[in-house]
Amino acid sequence: MTSTRSIAATAVLTSLLASAAGAQPASTLDAIHARLDKAAGAILPKVVAWRRDLHAHPELGNQEVRTSAFLAEQLRRLGYEVATGVAKTGVVAVLKGGRPGPVVGLRADMDALPVTEETGLPFASQARGQYNGRDVGVMHACGHDFHMSMLLGAAEVLAGLKADLAGTVKIVFQPAEEGVPGEPGGAEVMVKEGVLENPKVDAMFGLHVGITPLEAGSITFRPKGLMAAGDTYRIIVKGRQTHGAMPWAGVDPIVVASQIVLGLQTVVSRQIDLTTAPAVVTVGTIEGGSRHNIVPDEVRMSGTIRTFDPDMRKEVLARVKRTAESIASASGATAEVILDEGYPVTWNDPALTERMTPSLKRVAAATFNANAQPTTTSEDFSYYGQKVPALYFFLGVAPKGADPAAWAANHSPRFSPDEAALVTGVRALASLAVDFLAGR
Ligand SMILES: [Zn+2]
Ligand SMILES: [Zn+2]
Repeated sequence: MTSTRSIAATAVLTSLLASAAGAQPASTLDAIHARLDKAAGAILPKVVAWRRDLHAHPELGNQEVRTSAFLAEQLRRLGYEVATGVAKTGVVAVLKGGRPGPVVGLRADMDALPVTEETGLPFASQARGQYNGRDVGVMHACGHDFHMSMLLGAAEVLAGLKADLAGTVKIVFQPAEEGVPGEPGGAEVMVKEGVLENPKVDAMFGLHVGITPLEAGSITFRPKGLMAAGDTYRIIVKGRQTHGAMPWAGVDPIVVASQIVLGLQTVVSRQIDLTTAPAVVTVGTIEGGSRHNIVPDEVRMSGTIRTFDPDMRKEVLARVKRTAESIASASGATAEVILDEGYPVTWNDPALTERMTPSLKRVAAATFNANAQPTTTSEDFSYYGQKVPALYFFLGVAPKGADPAAWAANHSPRFSPDEAALVTGVRALASLAVDFLAGR
């Protein structure tokens, strides 16, 4: 009797706690998933049409004027509260669900690349633009047209499920992911302008099409570092110029620079724990000297650093600086090391990644891999992940049965993602929002 009553009381308490935390019973969530999938299928023709229209009208970073006006108009039509002009052309839209709860952010990037399209598609871009002062072809060669149309599709699906959502959806359309020479922009500026505040975002999700030649509808990701931090360094080695026949009368920066090149090899091979994550330090340029019999005054070098762990990144940057400076000083030269930090590591919060893995598994239409290899490319989605728990994943867009060796990758003028993947992207983004708000 006593034990029965206490079991019943515990059950009541558990269900009260669950509803207080916004968690929905599995049967309700299954029903919502069924409606979500149906809605995603029903709006697919619209998603395809949006994608083709966006593809035919690409705009370079920080110039996404037509694109952002179109997205803002669609989001208003869906009943979202829309803010425009965030970080120049960004659009942020908020949808409050039927019940209070956490805030989930979904992000897509809007910019195209200075690439002249060679796909031969009927909706291929004819657009031209100005890049670095030059007239260039403009193309959605990285698939951001896919990202936008899928996120707009997810926004529409979520608007249809509004009454059942326990929390708030924030849709983020971000400019200038590829970076614009000499101009600030993209995610870093969006974050500075408060995109993660009012209402405060509890988790951020995003995806990239392609990157690897996986079949359309494949979903791959990994916990922790998914994409590399890409940092640039320059080193100016200063010696003292003298006659090449009397090197003792000066300080030879060519020999010092050579020692630095070799010393830098030991940063990765001898100084960091490679079992934690991989890393790359490359010397890409080295310039110095004007004549065979002159020891020059200085040598300039530059290179790139790729890391997959935020702590290791700091360590590698510090060790590159220390190695160059110390080797130079051992020879009586100086080395000025200038670090130019690029995008951070795209970091998938391990707890969030584990929690959302079933959501992505449910919607994957081909290969599913929750422990994929990291890639050495970089992504400014990483700035959101520095502030809030985030999860970024890859969506395969290669046509079924295509030869991976013949695949035209992102940034190729022949990059032509398979539209069969669109429905998976819509379902994935909408499911992550629904499941996160449902306490899954
Ligand atoms: Zn790109
Ligand atoms: Zn991209």
